[in-house]
Amino acid sequence: MKPARTARHWLLSLFPTSTALVVTFALVIAFILLVGERWVEERRSLLDEVEMQATLVGANVSIALAAGDPQMGNEMLAAMAKAPDIQSTGLYGPEGELFAHYDREKPSTLPQTSPSVGHVFTSGQLLITVPVAYSGVEDIGTLVVVASLDGIYDSMLYFVASLLGTIGVASLLGVMVTGGLRDRMKRAEHDLHLLALYDRVTGLSNRYAFELAIEQTVLRHQRDGGGSALLFIDVDGFKKINDRFGHASGDLVLQEIGRRITYTLRAADVVARLGGDEFGAILVNTSNPADAAHVAENLVREAARPFLMGAASAHIGFSIGIAMLPDDGEAAATLMHHADLAMYHAKSLGKSNYQFFSDTLDNAVRRRLDIEEGLRRAIRDRELSVMYQPQLADPGGVPLGIEALVRWIRPDGSSITPAEFIPVAEESGLIADIGDFVLQQVCDDITALRQRGLAVPTVAINLSGRQFLRRSFAGDMMRTLHASGLTPSDIEIELTESVLMDRLDEYRQIMADLSASGVKIAIDDFGTGYSSLSYLSKLPVSKLKIDQSFVQELPHKASSRSIVTGIISMAHALGLRVVAEGVETEAQAACLLENGCDLLQGFCIGRPMPLKQLAELLPQGGKRA
Ligand code: C2E
Ligand code: CA
Ligand code: CA
Repeated sequence: MKPARTARHWLLSLFPTSTALVVTFALVIAFILLVGERWVEERRSLLDEVEMQATLVGANVSIALAAGDPQMGNEMLAAMAKAPDIQSTGLYGPEGELFAHYDREKPSTLPQTSPSVGHVFTSGQLLITVPVAYSGVEDIGTLVVVASLDGIYDSMLYFVASLLGTIGVASLLGVMVTGGLRDRMKRAEHDLHLLALYDRVTGLSNRYAFELAIEQTVLRHQRDGGGSALLFIDVDGFKKINDRFGHASGDLVLQEIGRRITYTLRAADVVARLGGDEFGAILVNTSNPADAAHVAENLVREAARPFLMGAASAHIGFSIGIAMLPDDGEAAATLMHHADLAMYHAKSLGKSNYQFFSDTLDNAVRRRLDIEEGLRRAIRDRELSVMYQPQLADPGGVPLGIEALVRWIRPDGSSITPAEFIPVAEESGLIADIGDFVLQQVCDDITALRQRGLAVPTVAINLSGRQFLRRSFAGDMMRTLHASGLTPSDIEIELTESVLMDRLDEYRQIMADLSASGVKIAIDDFGTGYSSLSYLSKLPVSKLKIDQSFVQELPHKASSRSIVTGIISMAHALGLRVVAEGVETEAQAACLLENGCDLLQGFCIGRPMPLKQLAELLPQGGKRA
């Protein structure tokens, strides 16, 4: 980039001088050649003309010489007065003595004795000497004609003047044309410059200019000390605006975002659009992280104000990552990388917030990227498997429900928990593949168990919100079940309470469709999402799963005990079954059963286990597939 710009500047700066020099040089050469050629031409034609006159006059005047009559010679020569260029003419005798002559002006310009035959150009004059013959007798004398060169000079002067005039006009035209060209080049250069440094949509600096500004900031820090904050700002929900309102409106929103960022910062700060829905800012002379945090807070607040799109309004958020110079890096590249990591972290924390870079964050993000990469391979190379955890009505009884839990065991034997990789899978879009795999595996396993004559209760599958929202979800699920020869009632879906409450309106229809086709729905992690039970009861839900956090505080913690007993009795009143999750001790199990909990799930009941082990828990008597 840089060298190209320099080269352009160089070319441009050379343009007026070098081109003009070349043009001038060419003009001078052409001028000299033209004038020289014209000079030679003029002289030749004068010579031809005068020579012809001399020959003519010589032939006529020879009679005077032959007659020895100088008077006659003088009179005949006087006729030359009619030729304007002729200054003098002299008739010379055989000995070279002047015999007769004509002079336009005194004193005479004729030599005293005849020069030899031929011609000579002196300053201002052409002197021609021709032999004179009479009646076949050669060389009875000579005739000398002296012509003035004034005529040539005049004509040359005229020629040079008109030539110079032509050159002048041509040069003027040339200057005008090249001047226009130069202006155009300058304008193009200016445009290129703008294009190279500014974002077309928002008019803010672009990524290139932003990187230059960061380098400048780093240099200033090295020279003068002091700190600065680097902010990477990701716009949450911009894609939705683009999809819903179109790109033109999207551009308007981007412009408004740029304005809001700009007026939230100080004039000396730098704001840039880094591309897509990413912006950047440098808070110069900001060494206190608290100041940067304050600015970030203001930015998050600014983003939260709705964007009016005609009658409708759009909502976005900012996920901001902050890296401090010099604490989080003293090189531009490091700072940018760290601000980027912090932004990524902010995004993963649920958006509309800001995060500072930290070393642990670096590790966390690294691990996350590692997981995302590994996950693609895991799906392809079948590193995923499914474990089953039984749900029992009392310890030692038969499973009345089963929860399918996905497992990822890497080729080196290490495992990554779903709590860690499911969120990554959601964000990277890989969750759909994982969901498809789990459902298919569960169908295959149920079929395999039934083929052994075992009674298989409903198997619960966990679904993330993202998966559930896929438009084709219900249809895809039915197709898979049908293809495996299973009925919808063989499967239960677990949705967490918080995911459900987040987008209830969007889920309601899908839930109704699923439930209508016979698929049961359980609310997972109940008690953490602050939803009201009566509200939930209006949804097609058949089961509640009390979150582990309450169960684990049983039986000693009174508040948990009353929450759990409250949930159980209210759920029963609404016709829902209750499962307690994370039952780890017999005391917990006893407490739950005393309070009427329908099913228990947890380590003390049965850990998540492979299919083979699950099969040992299931009674015979199922319908044979
Ligand atoms: P969850 O749905 O709440 O699943 C219960 C989690 O509690 C499981 O963790 C299970 O192994 C663990 N657990 C069971 N009994 C006990 C106990 O007595 N004590 C303790 N401390 N933990 C117990 P897991 O398998 O690591 O799964 C974690 C989460 O990952 C799940 O929470 C679920 O939200 C998600 N998940 C698991 N499998 C899938 C899947 O196939 N698809 C989706 N979308 N999410 C899944
Ligand atoms: Ca679950
Ligand atoms: Ca749970």
